[in-house]
Amino acid sequence: MSHSQNPHEVLKHVFGYDEFRDQQLDIISDLIDGRDAMVLMPTGGGKSLCYQIPSLIRPGTGVVISPLIALMQDQVNTLIEQGVNAAFLNSSLTRVEQRDIELQFLQGNLDILYVAPERLMTDSTLALFRQSQIALFAIDEAHCVSQWGHDFRADYLRLAILAEEFPQVPRIALTATADRRTRNEISERLTLQQAQHYITSFDRPNIRYQIREKENSKNRLLQFIQKDHEGDAGIVYCLSRNKVNELAQWLKEKGIDALPYHAGLTQGVRASNQSRFLKEDSVVIVATIAFGMGIDKPDVRFVAHMDLPKSMEAYYQETGRAGRDGEPADAWMVYGLQDVIQLRKMMEGSAANETFKRVEQQKLETFLGFCEATTCRRQIILRYFEEKAEPCGNCDNCQSPPITWDATEAARKALSCVYRTGQRFGVSHVVDVLMGKATDKVTQHGHHAVSTFGIGQNLDQNVWRSLFRQLVAMGYLKIDFDRFGVLVLDEKSRAVLKGDESLHLRFEEKKKAGRKQQGNFKQRKEAIYEGEDEKLWQALRRLRKNLSDENNVPPYTIFHDATLMEMVELKPVKLDEFSDLHGVGDKKLDSYGDQFIELIYSHVVGE
Ligand code: ADP
Ligand code: ZN
Repeated sequence: MSHSQNPHEVLKHVFGYDEFRDQQLDIISDLIDGRDAMVLMPTGGGKSLCYQIPSLIRPGTGVVISPLIALMQDQVNTLIEQGVNAAFLNSSLTRVEQRDIELQFLQGNLDILYVAPERLMTDSTLALFRQSQIALFAIDEAHCVSQWGHDFRADYLRLAILAEEFPQVPRIALTATADRRTRNEISERLTLQQAQHYITSFDRPNIRYQIREKENSKNRLLQFIQKDHEGDAGIVYCLSRNKVNELAQWLKEKGIDALPYHAGLTQGVRASNQSRFLKEDSVVIVATIAFGMGIDKPDVRFVAHMDLPKSMEAYYQETGRAGRDGEPADAWMVYGLQDVIQLRKMMEGSAANETFKRVEQQKLETFLGFCEATTCRRQIILRYFEEKAEPCGNCDNCQSPPITWDATEAARKALSCVYRTGQRFGVSHVVDVLMGKATDKVTQHGHHAVSTFGIGQNLDQNVWRSLFRQLVAMGYLKIDFDRFGVLVLDEKSRAVLKGDESLHLRFEEKKKAGRKQQGNFKQRKEAIYEGEDEKLWQALRRLRKNLSDENNVPPYTIFHDATLMEMVELKPVKLDEFSDLHGVGDKKLDSYGDQFIELIYSHVVGE
């Protein structure tokens, strides 16, 4: 195409934009002047223009190496519509088509040529390059060159040859995810040590990060969509194809316009589902991670994870598909012990070499730490990419700070119970022993006679489960997969058992199934008197009485019995949950919320 030599003009006339973002212009100028560049920019940041514009301005063809073969067609189509002579070379072409493109390339008729990495390194392609004029080499998804990165591709290693063979052609490497180690590896392997490194902040301030406990997760997802994202486009990630199919179907029955996407569907179905998602504005795609690479849909309003991704990079990249237009968007995830077990198992079973496995494991640990964190999510994400940040005010931990508790004593009980029962059982059984439940299995193994039997009755069974999850996530306990997932003490647990280490953990409150209470008032009251909650009920009544005496008003003007009953049933320990109770308005929340919550909290953690 004919074009002016000025980047601004090209930006305006070819792409239709008025201003460059952040560092785009600096990067473009470097390349135009023949210098190399390395670019780290979050997804949606605008990496493509950084090489497309110099490709148009410099003489010759810009060669873009990209592993995303499935997207080349799209990218090329978009460019052609903008009047750019673009083409691609990959395995999807017929011989004739390929010959035709090579010819155009040799004749200097192409502005931009996308090439798959495996294609690039064949002798014939290299010969082709030597005979053509090349404006620049752009290496997209450059983290694929790094073994430390999460997406290693052996073909990328051979890209080192470009620096040797074409020293006069400027090269630009681009990636959306790279911690310092990955970055160093990219720079070394692609001989970019001399290049200017452009690092854009990884913060995506419009994305709100939320992690929920994985319990009743289908319904939680449905509520989240109905409440916050009615009629929005979104992506829901699941680990398995079966789960994708099942969940998409279920959501559809619930009135959500949901479609499945995974590698097991026919090409036709996948293409049609993807195209509906792209073209319409309220389709929810339920997918395995096969979906989304390079999807450039600006108005995806939420990304939900029903299963845990295996690293921070993966999480960041997947959630990064939300809100590319800069408008508010949600990254929502559920997380539970099963995830930890499943991912650990997958890694142990993988055929990868030891170094690689160790790296993967380390990344998983880091990510689990993120899930369990009680501080600002964004800070942790950004710290991972070596950026500093203040608490963001736009994540679950900022908006509703989790309650932490001194779990040292409980952790010691849990760990010693694992020890006393011989490190031969899973979580459920150990919790039964702690709770003093003489199940058949417990008596059969004589565990009703061990010293830890019943020492955990002060805590709710769900508090124990959450505690075990955190102990596993933090590496105090290991799961032995060769023995059906039994709990085993890690060396690390010794300090806790000896009393040398104290533990402050996230307190996971327990919701009873929904807000609908079972039975009428009388039945509910009876249930309270029969169960373990009577103490709490009485304590709440005493508190109400004290407050009513203090304020010289009748007790019911503080809270009705029905409200106290809900407190017992739902055990709210955060202000926002408390304000959801019937009969709790702003005024009462303000006047009494803290005191009641404190009481409920101390009851639940067994103080
Ligand atoms: P990345 O490859 O970094 O994920 P893209 O290059 O696909 O991001 O760009 C993301 C979106 O931002 C695209 O829709 C692109 O057209 C748009 N964009 C890029 N640069 C600009 C700019 N300077 N002004 C306006 N929009 C831009
Ligand atoms: Zn935050």
